[in-house]
Amino acid sequence: MNYVSTRGRAPVLSFDAALLAGLAGDGGLYVPETWPRLTRPDMRALSGLSYAEMAARVMAPFVGGAVAEDDFTAMVVDAYRGFDHPAVAPLTQLGRNQWLLELFHGPTLSFKDYALQLVGRLFDYVLARRGERIALLCATSGDTGSAAIEACRDRASLDIFVLHPKGRVSDVQRRQMTTVASSNVHNVAVEGTFDDCQDLVKAMFNDRDFSDRCRLSAVNSINWARIMAQVAYYFVAAVALGAPGRRFTFAVPTGNFGNVYAAYAARRMGLPVDGFVIGSNVNDVLTRYFASGEMRTAPVRPTLSPSMDIQVSSNFERLLFDYYGRDGARLGPVMERFRKQGRAAFGKTRWRRMARLFAGYSVDDEATKMAIRVIHRQTGQLLDPHSAIAVAAGIARHDHKASTLVSVATAHPAKFPQAVEDATGIRPALPAHLANLFERPERFETLPNDLGPVRDFVTRRLAGGTAS
Ligand SMILES: *Cc1c(COP(=O)(O)O)cnc(C)c1O
Repeated sequence: MNYVSTRGRAPVLSFDAALLAGLAGDGGLYVPETWPRLTRPDMRALSGLSYAEMAARVMAPFVGGAVAEDDFTAMVVDAYRGFDHPAVAPLTQLGRNQWLLELFHGPTLSFKDYALQLVGRLFDYVLARRGERIALLCATSGDTGSAAIEACRDRASLDIFVLHPKGRVSDVQRRQMTTVASSNVHNVAVEGTFDDCQDLVKAMFNDRDFSDRCRLSAVNSINWARIMAQVAYYFVAAVALGAPGRRFTFAVPTGNFGNVYAAYAARRMGLPVDGFVIGSNVNDVLTRYFASGEMRTAPVRPTLSPSMDIQVSSNFERLLFDYYGRDGARLGPVMERFRKQGRAAFGKTRWRRMARLFAGYSVDDEATKMAIRVIHRQTGQLLDPHSAIAVAAGIARHDHKASTLVSVATAHPAKFPQAVEDATGIRPALPAHLANLFERPERFETLPNDLGPVRDFVTRRLAGGTAS
């Protein structure tokens, strides 16, 4: 399988080259040249397999010859071995024809583990075979940093540098990053905001000299391999619930549009899906778009669901690519104008077609807490704020009553204990493997919001400078 850019001007790449490139050179995102299909017999043949076996089969056409088939299967098995539930992504019934897909059983308790545990191994494999070594750079507002660190720790071909805004991530989130004792993991607390961290990362990439010398690369959510790994659990869930003999609606708490786009990709591959419900908090740019036909960004407001405090959903460009007839030359100028002006309509006919498949629903903090409380009372299930938004949105906008509603839980309730306790009176406990998180020693460097010192820190650590 080859990969093309959504803006049509970057070179066509193989799977391993697209993996290492991340963003395309023309500012676009890589997508597969064609959508592979699973037939109904293919889907029936998945029934009864383990999570890893099913996932490897679903992903195989995307990887093509870039990784030997046996190596790939072994890598997938290894990626999900450490998850704390034998089903990896278990389903819980919430009501008649209504289910919860639990994606918080990985090492850092967010769904990002499902992609990053595999992507870390893929990077290591591809780099080792090329005899190369890279430094991954990542700015985080909380969840991505710890998931990326857990995926890359102790991997021979990688160093990972994570910048988080000092004092602006939760204690659980910070400790999940800073208590990892691996010599290739480097944490920086930046005296600034998440935006400052992102700007520092961008500035280091834009310094070509520095970037080439340090062999910088990124593991952000625009990497195709992350989407690919997420497609797998939609097939796994649907097959467990009776696909291809049953139809589905997926409700997904959405920020960067990566997770719900993976569900859409599963539909393109043949999964019987009637529609998608996008759950958002008050940062509801997508919900407003599907309701009004105009996409218009607004300032980000902090909420109880910080991983969805986003106003530009990067992966939406991948969906648009399909709706522009997979013609990057047409989509490129449209995206460039949108990035400049902060608003776009993408055509009325196109919007109507997209809105037949996607519906948005926005839930503010009060309604989020109410949803956590009501769902707990009715089903005994404790949900984190992101997952509660998905369930509330799914119930509100599930228009295809004949299809089975699957809402996606993206974080363990113990990652957001205060909101859960406020809503239910119950403080959720961390799972056993993290129970002593607050006793472990922390390791990080505090640096000013200033390019010079951060760049020096990276240089020093790559030269083998001792850990602080
Ligand atoms: C990252 C994240 C999301 C948003 O997912 P996208 O793929 O960016 O839409 C939702 N919930 C949690 C808990 C997350 O960490």
